[in-house]
Amino acid sequence: MPKLLSIAQARALVRETVVALPTETVELDAALGRVLAEDVVAAHDVAPFASSAMDGFAVKAGPAGRTLPIVGESRAGHPAPRALQDGEAMRISTGALLPDGAEGVLQVEKVRVDGDRVTLDDDVQPGRNIRAAGEDLKAGATVLRAGQRLGPAELGIAVEAGRGELAVAVSPRVAVVATGDELADPGEPLGPGQIHNSNATTLAALAMQAGARVFAVTGAEDTQDDTEEALGVALDEADVVLISGGVSVGPHDHVKPALEALGVRQVFWRVSLRPGKPTWFGERDGRLVFGLPGNPVSSMVTFLLFARPALHAMQGAPFAMPVRQAVLTEAVERQPDRDEAVRVFLATGDDGRLLATPTGPQGSHILSSMVGADGLAIIEAGPGGVDAGTVVPVEPV
Ligand code: AMP
Ligand code: MG
Repeated sequence: MPKLLSIAQARALVRETVVALPTETVELDAALGRVLAEDVVAAHDVAPFASSAMDGFAVKAGPAGRTLPIVGESRAGHPAPRALQDGEAMRISTGALLPDGAEGVLQVEKVRVDGDRVTLDDDVQPGRNIRAAGEDLKAGATVLRAGQRLGPAELGIAVEAGRGELAVAVSPRVAVVATGDELADPGEPLGPGQIHNSNATTLAALAMQAGARVFAVTGAEDTQDDTEEALGVALDEADVVLISGGVSVGPHDHVKPALEALGVRQVFWRVSLRPGKPTWFGERDGRLVFGLPGNPVSSMVTFLLFARPALHAMQGAPFAMPVRQAVLTEAVERQPDRDEAVRVFLATGDDGRLLATPTGPQGSHILSSMVGADGLAIIEAGPGGVDAGTVVPVEPV
């Protein structure tokens, strides 16, 4: 049998096959989770004007003990109508525009007001309680870069930078096809020999987390005809098809011949990975097809290692997420001939080092091993086991 591809070799092939999606301009309320397709530059200083950091009185700099006439007010959104002169005070609220001529603000807790006069109980140094214009962003500064995923803070800073719309990558259209005669829909009672179709739900959720629009989740019976029919429909509309199951070498595994009949070019089949060895990957006219093994953990692990980076890269985001190095807290077995993705919890040790603890039994059918997992510790193939204390790379989940 030919030597299996390593995880890295398989990922390199996925990366080469990815075609970037076009971009579109969307309003900010539709941009959460999307990947930015342009650099965003501040259109003006942020804050746009010098303002008060406190509720209080805007005055010239000077010593404590002054009693000054209150000649006006600057409120948030309502600047004072005129400049401040020597010997005057103006009421000012937090965030209100600092009147011309004012040199500092004394907060309300440090003054006494008597009718239309105010006595200052503290010195006012130049700049006291003043926020300068441009303290957050200078006009022209690049505040976001193409390829960044837009979260709440990124959207907020785009608003501050003067934007109401952003260019983002089109969301990949994903179809999920779960193969298997044994599958029952979520919530349905199980007949003899049936199991619930958990992969369709996890794969759709994973794809959405990676920024995709999942437009179809369908099933296929374990026949060549039905598999071909379901995959053909999915391929008509999808940028990425995620298939669960049917990709091994059993007599009831029809995915590979169906894809071949549909003209999908195989890029690779089988990776030196546990769980996930039968993973199949191919392409037709730039549309990507991932044949993921049916065991629920295998499905998730192979999505995370191969399909997630592809979805990210199609949107112009970095292909792989940053790998972290962590210390194993327990000895783990290792496979003589395949790298293993061990599901781990991550924590910080007393010495500040990142610690990786296996989540429990690691069978490819034991989905509880994924619940709450923070990462996949990649244990390189080799003889014997790996001792506690070994530093291993961890892929984020
Ligand atoms: P397969 O890759 O089709 O040979 O399936 C391998 C194992 O995964 C079998 O035990 C299947 O019953 C199980 N399996 C297949 N598809 C799913 C699914 N959609 N949800 C949960 N388990 C599945
Ligand atoms: Mg099957």
